[in-house]
Amino acid sequence: MRSFFAASPPRTAIILAIFGFLLNLYPLPLFANVQLILGNAAYVIAAVILGPRYAVAVALVCAAGLFLTWDTKHVFVLFPLEALVLALARRRGIYSLYAGVGFWLLIGTPLFYLYGLTLTSLPVSHLPFIAFKQAINGLFYIGLGAVLLLMMPKLAQINPGYRNAPERFSDKLTYSFTLFISLALLIAALLFNQFFIDRQQLLIKKNLQDNAVHLSQLTFDYLREHQRAIIQGAEWLSMMGDDFERQDWLTQFNHGYPAFLTMLIANDRGNIVAASPAARMMDDAIKNGAYSVIDRHYFKEAFYNQTPFISPVFLGRGFGSDPIVAVSAPIYSPGRSSHPAGILEGSLDLKRFVLIDRQNRHHSEQYLLLTDDNNRVIYASAPLNIASLSEFASAESGLEYRTSLQLINLHDLHNPNPEYIYAEEPLANGWRLMVLTPFAPLMQLAETQFLRTCILLILSMGFCFYLARLISRMMTGSLETIAHEFKSPGEQPKPLPADAPAEVQALYQSLKASQRQLLSYQLELEEKVAIRTLELETANQKLQALAQRDPLTGLYNRRHATAEFAPLQAMCERSGEAIAVVILDLDFFKAINDTHGHLAGDECLRQVAILLTQHFKRDSDLVARYGGEEFLLILPMTNALKIEHHLNQLREDLARHPVNHPSGDEPINLSVSIGAMVANANFSDSLEAWLKVADDNLYQAKAEGRNRVVCTLISDGVPTP
Ligand code: GH3
Ligand code: MG
Ligand code: MG
Repeated sequence: MRSFFAASPPRTAIILAIFGFLLNLYPLPLFANVQLILGNAAYVIAAVILGPRYAVAVALVCAAGLFLTWDTKHVFVLFPLEALVLALARRRGIYSLYAGVGFWLLIGTPLFYLYGLTLTSLPVSHLPFIAFKQAINGLFYIGLGAVLLLMMPKLAQINPGYRNAPERFSDKLTYSFTLFISLALLIAALLFNQFFIDRQQLLIKKNLQDNAVHLSQLTFDYLREHQRAIIQGAEWLSMMGDDFERQDWLTQFNHGYPAFLTMLIANDRGNIVAASPAARMMDDAIKNGAYSVIDRHYFKEAFYNQTPFISPVFLGRGFGSDPIVAVSAPIYSPGRSSHPAGILEGSLDLKRFVLIDRQNRHHSEQYLLLTDDNNRVIYASAPLNIASLSEFASAESGLEYRTSLQLINLHDLHNPNPEYIYAEEPLANGWRLMVLTPFAPLMQLAETQFLRTCILLILSMGFCFYLARLISRMMTGSLETIAHEFKSPGEQPKPLPADAPAEVQALYQSLKASQRQLLSYQLELEEKVAIRTLELETANQKLQALAQRDPLTGLYNRRHATAEFAPLQAMCERSGEAIAVVILDLDFFKAINDTHGHLAGDECLRQVAILLTQHFKRDSDLVARYGGEEFLLILPMTNALKIEHHLNQLREDLARHPVNHPSGDEPINLSVSIGAMVANANFSDSLEAWLKVADDNLYQAKAEGRNRVVCTLISDGVPTP
């Protein structure tokens, strides 16, 4: 997967956008019109791994998916804004979930509320819930995106150009804890809500259905009882024949069945022969037989078809003006059971259904609605506010709601929000009975439940965050102590807090042990280095001495003398001092070698060296073997007037004291010729110049017969003899 995405943020963004778009086309339906959108997780991922520009682009495509589902334009503002905030927060090292909580608390929810208030016709009372719902949904897809990223760490490395600030382990631990638990809680809360509302719906549905069956039974019983009364009354009248005081009987009979508003007995021409209440008979038209009910349904059905009849609902004519149902049955002449002599009719009072309705009174929020086979309203509970006899108008509603309930609107037929939940039961006579309950309380319940669980969820999220931080601090706190304490190896590390985890304690102990070992190694090493350095220094000194000295006489050698001249000259020049440069050459030394042998010659050289160091022992005097049997003296701060005398003393000293022969032969007489010069140090900074004068003098000393000193004093650059 990595290679497919590798280093191609645009391609990653396109894939994320397609996923988000498709997922947003199919939101997860929860109760009623509550939906869970998941596709927005795509731009959460984009915000973390690709940065603000890609996040906003992906969010726009995801929003397009939602626009197709919801048909509202606000998605093009709200969600890209969220993506931008998440991406910018991520750049500052703020995790998506925290940024999401902040966004929905401070920007998203208020903005959505404002949008709902100004640009939609959503009911104001409903707005807080919808806004809150949106926020919870936001947290859900942010959590989903973040968890996906945590579970696929490779995904987070897709864009090498976009690096987030390095994370602290304890922060990451806290975040992961909080994230996982929050998401788990969120899913649990949503599932629980779903389960709860499903149960609630099932209960309502079953209750309505049971009541519908029960009430329809009651209604049917009520009708049947009164129909049976009319049939029995008609049979009684058929048995008694014409010689019978029908008016009194009818009054009595109506007394027994007060649900009949009026009753009448009509003859075969439809003329009323008896009526209840009896006062009706005082009507002139009835009295003189001009009033006939022959055209009425209840007469035709009972008289011509000879069947007991229950009419549809109608408004009483002449005989009162209430909405009634006429119940009628044929009356026969005694013994002529196939030829009707008239009918018995009772007008059943529809308001009597109030009694049945009252049976249902303990369900205060349940209403009764009864329609006849002509679809006219026979009875409607008062709160429904539907007039009896009116045409029954209704519309199935909530078709887009995810619910198993039957939903209907009775008043606002075009409103997509349902008014009532109902159950319906047909009666045997073609009537229809409905039990209804308002939909709003259920919605309210679902919303309250949703709000409650979500508030609980947010609280537990906070608590979970606190707990996670506590635990991760406990784990990483001691690690940080270790990291801090072992930074400077020289110091004793502080002890760990007592509650540090065992693993960390173990790490601490082994680190301490290795620190001790390291320290001892270091000391050992330092000691070794010190010894080696000392040895090296001694060797160096020896080497230096060897390099400076002449091995035979132990005097400085020519190289050293030459090198030392410059600093000596500079020093004397600063202080305006004089310098003497002297060359000594033993006389006839070749002959001494020839006579006494080389070893004796060497001994002579050693003795001369000793003599020289005895005569010139100031610290600043430099006595060197210049080569062969020649010696060089560089004498700074010399008293120019005394130097010649001093050199003569040396010469005489040598001449006076023969050198003892090492192998016990007779002593060897030695003499030396000396060429010297004295000048102020500024005479020249080149030794060559000095040596030239001294050498010339030596030559002169040799030429003049040897064993003598020739010295030149140069003052202000001019030789003085
Ligand atoms: P002159 O009076 O003119 O100086 O006569 P000389 O014999 O000393 O002449 P020269 O200076 O030319 O001879 C130097 C001799 O010193 C030559 C060599 O045999 C001897 N010589 C040089 N170096 C050493 C040394 O290290 N040991 C010994 N034994 N002899 C040396
Ligand atoms: Mg010589
Ligand atoms: Mg010589």
